[in-house]
Amino acid sequence: MTGGAGFIGSHLCERLAGEGNKVICVDNLSTGRKENVEGIANVEFVKQDVTKQFEVKCEQVYNLASPASPVDYRNLSVETLLVGSVGVQNVLECARKNNARMLHASTSEVYGDPQVHPQVETYFGNVNPIGPRSCYDEAKRYAEALCIAYHSKKLANVVLARIFNTYGPRMRLDDGRVVPNFVGQALRGEPITVYGDGKQTRSFCFVSDQVEALVKLMNSKFSGEAFNSGNPEEHTILEFAQRIKQMTKSESEIVFKPLPQDDPKKRKPDITKIKKAIGWQPKVELDEGLKKTIEWFKQKI
Ligand code: NAD
Ligand code: UDP
Repeated sequence: MTGGAGFIGSHLCERLAGEGNKVICVDNLSTGRKENVEGIANVEFVKQDVTKQFEVKCEQVYNLASPASPVDYRNLSVETLLVGSVGVQNVLECARKNNARMLHASTSEVYGDPQVHPQVETYFGNVNPIGPRSCYDEAKRYAEALCIAYHSKKLANVVLARIFNTYGPRMRLDDGRVVPNFVGQALRGEPITVYGDGKQTRSFCFVSDQVEALVKLMNSKFSGEAFNSGNPEEHTILEFAQRIKQMTKSESEIVFKPLPQDDPKKRKPDITKIKKAIGWQPKVELDEGLKKTIEWFKQKI
């Protein structure tokens, strides 16, 4: 597992190791933390930047290495482009040499600021190639193309998961994404910062549901294609801020800040394809997932 010391990766390591698998977690700790995987039986940590060549013996490859939060990938723009290009090729080569099946973690950002709603896998997207999000969006689009080229040339057996906004324990409080920002601000009694007018939408998937989707996709017969994985329940960001304020019983005021350039106005996955293919759909209600997440952030503050 590359990126195994990160938020989603560490939950995936835990799940796979818990089922008796030996997991090798390959991570350079740029946005992840070693403590996320320390102490999990059957998980071996290897500090390694996947943009440099590496060798690991394995039967399956989950490729999650990449900064993922808009704040992280803006700070690490060049590194993000490299991990999505050179890094993905090194990981594909690792899969090829081991004759291992690979799942590549792609993203809803391949759809950019979408003009089709909800987003279906056949939509090609609306991405600004020179905007502040382009280092991430274009790296992820290139990575998909590289995976498909390896698949077409029968060099590797790869499936693509287009992950939509996922949240839960082990997100970094300072990663800048909306869940840690709002929960951290609400718990500290600081103003809750809604960007723009808060009418933009996102659909939030709890991490255990996301992990289940990734494991099921890896163990399915599908390859050389992309599947949306996320929760289709859509919320405006303003309503989300109000919900977190209420759930944390916070006195924080909600304040409005400028909307970052190219921030997608709407996002909601169409999950018809993944539902039909592998019978997956999310189970965890937003309030239930947020309750667990808030508890975890409380311990961190
Ligand atoms: P994260 O930042 O917590 O995890 C990413 C991990 O990759 C970190 O541990 C980081 O140290 C590691 N990494 C980065 N560059 C590396 C490199 N060059 N070599 C080795 N390791 C490297 O982020 P996350 O939210 O857990 O995201 C995991 C994956 O899922 C990413 O590929 C991301 O693009 C994708 N994804 C996540 C979301 C989400 O909502 N969380 C949505 C869409 C896609
Ligand atoms: N957002 C916000 N306040 C914050 C952080 C984020 O209003 O403090 C908004 C952001 O503008 C976006 C949404 O919340 O519309 C989700 O942002 P996030 O960074 O979590 O991920 P994205 O889906 O944009 O990649």
